[in-house]
Amino acid sequence: MERTFLAIKPDGVQRGLVGEIIRRFETKGFTLVGLKFLKVSRELAEQHYDVHRERPFFGGLVEFITSSPVVAMVWEGDGVVASARKIIGATNPLTAEPGTIRGDFGLNIGRNLIHGSDAQETAQREIALWFKDEELVSWQPHLTPWLH
Ligand code: ADP
Ligand code: MG
Repeated sequence: MERTFLAIKPDGVQRGLVGEIIRRFETKGFTLVGLKFLKVSRELAEQHYDVHRERPFFGGLVEFITSSPVVAMVWEGDGVVASARKIIGATNPLTAEPGTIRGDFGLNIGRNLIHGSDAQETAQREIALWFKDEELVSWQPHLTPWLH
């Protein structure tokens, strides 16, 4: 079953949007298989954003993501990687569509509330980086087996 990695960034936590953001994936029908609340180390932040290492915003991004706690999650479901990116919206909240998380709540590209894996291979890399195998729970919601 396809999985993706999502993280509610420090601004999402600070603004009290944790419940609202989780609700959108829950009510869509995806299955939560991993969840933790943590202060991110510099090492983890740099590995997570390794593809952006040469970009001018890299230093500020690592500073921000390590500045206060985040909610790290793994969600499961058919097509969850691409669907979660749609639910999240475009990188720049000013151009993200209304109805998306960034479009509804964000104003600033550097404070865009949530991270979501951009492809299945990236999702596998990020899940392995953030979670140990035993922290992920394989389960099937009993009431809605038809969803998957
Ligand atoms: P996404 O999070 O939508 O996958 P990217 O992978 O392109 O976006 O960038 C990673 C993160 O880096 C973005 O979510 C954003 O927080 C930050 N970022 C991207 N571009 C900029 C920029 N021009 N200035 C500041 N921060 C940026
Ligand atoms: Mg990205």
